[in-house]
Amino acid sequence: MRWPTEEELARLRQELVEELRQKGITSPRVLAAIGKIPRHLFVLPEHLPWAYDDRPLPIGFGQTISQPYIVALSTEALALSPADKVLEVGTGSGYQTAVLAELAKEVFTVERIPELSWEAQERLRRLGYENVRFRVGDGTKGWPEEAPFPAILVTAAAPRVPKSLLEQLAEDGRLVIPVGGRFQQDLWLVRKRGGKPVYEHLCPVSFVPLIGEEGWR
Ligand code: SAM
Repeated sequence: MRWPTEEELARLRQELVEELRQKGITSPRVLAAIGKIPRHLFVLPEHLPWAYDDRPLPIGFGQTISQPYIVALSTEALALSPADKVLEVGTGSGYQTAVLAELAKEVFTVERIPELSWEAQERLRRLGYENVRFRVGDGTKGWPEEAPFPAILVTAAAPRVPKSLLEQLAEDGRLVIPVGGRFQQDLWLVRKRGGKPVYEHLCPVSFVPLIGEEGWR
């Protein structure tokens, strides 16, 4: 296989942005971030030909880089402002982390598989992101020292919304999380109003499981 040129990759990236726009993503900031971030550097070399397809791809350790449409939809639902700090649970390849880092002031990201976190750290360092803090561990417990967060994104599927994450969500904050069974779930936007969660359904999804004390055991 011939390695695609930078021009070809840039064209494929712009075609992906157009596809996401047609699928209903409207936020110019989210679309600009996706148009900027080189997703081909976040996938395994053997998956390079599909790096700009709107689909998840394996990243090793039984995990996946999420589908770009779901990354865009989740990020749009967080309605980030440049002053926000965000908690992400499930760093994976670091692609979604990079999207958040483009739109927010600071990103705190937790991954339970050390090797994935180390690879993501190296990738984001090389790409010049300086507003991301990484932690290896169980993200279902959040990042209590940095709470409250105006935005929290969970990129693995939980049986229910972890109590710790709800507690660490700021008043009027937004939490996006897939909740459901092992293989099929629904993506929810949870807003904290008067200390209570208010749920808005986004779409059906299929994520890898959130494994931890307040996730799947
Ligand atoms: N957003 C990522 C990306 O763009 O590559 C994809 C994330 S992948 C769908 C879900 C990730 O959540 C996996 O890397 C998995 O190891 C991680 N994970 C699962 N349970 C976790 C937990 N309790 N704490 C932190 N990470 C967890």
